[in-house]
Order: sequence, then structure tokens, then C-alpha cells
Amino acid sequence: MTNRRVFILQSVIGTSALASGMAMAAAPLVAESDAAAKGLGYAADTTKVDAKKFPKHTNEQSCTNCALYQGKAGAASGGCPLFAGKEVTAKGWCSAYAKKA
Ligand code: SF4
Repeated sequence: MTNRRVFILQSVIGTSALASGMAMAAAPLVAESDAAAKGLGYAADTTKVDAKKFPKHTNEQSCTNCALYQGKAGAASGGCPLFAGKEVTAKGWCSAYAKKA
């Protein structure tokens, strides 16, 4: 194997190790100012949702009791498929809210 090949191999292995390490680290929280968050009317605190804009919203609705929420019970935040690579707060809410069965 040439030195160049070894170098490329090491780079690839190094990058994938880094990527898997990053996947294990906690994902950043979704910011309410994110374009995707704005589009879905996401609020980090369900009690701060604009009642005029979302008349069907209630303060009992939050990510923790949403069918899409992937966070562990008791955790302050968790994943949501609508915000890939980021986490939503357990007490957050968005207009795609669907009550967990
Ligand atoms: S879809 Fe559900 S879990 Fe995801 S942000 Fe909206 S309310 Fe929270």
C-alpha cells in the first residue's frame, strides 16, 4: 500500500469515528427563530403559544405527550422527526402536535 493510500484510509476512518462521536453527543435545541420552527409555530414553552394564531392549542399539549416526541420520560428535551438533528424541549409545542395514544 502506498503512503497516499494509507493516508486516505486513515482520513476516512478518522472522519467516520468523528461522525459517530458527534451522533452520540446531545443534539442542539431547536431555536424558535429557525425557519422550520417558525413554519410550524414551534414554541420552546407551550404556555407561550399565541392563542390567536393557534386557537386549538391548550397548555396541556406539549412535546412530552405528543406522538412524535422521541425524548425519554423525564428528560428536558428530546428528538422530533420534524426537526432532524436537533432536540425540542419536553414542554415545547408546535402546530403538528398529535396527542400520544
Ligand atoms: S411534532 Fe410534537 S414533538 Fe415535535 S415539536 Fe411538534 S409538538 Fe413537539
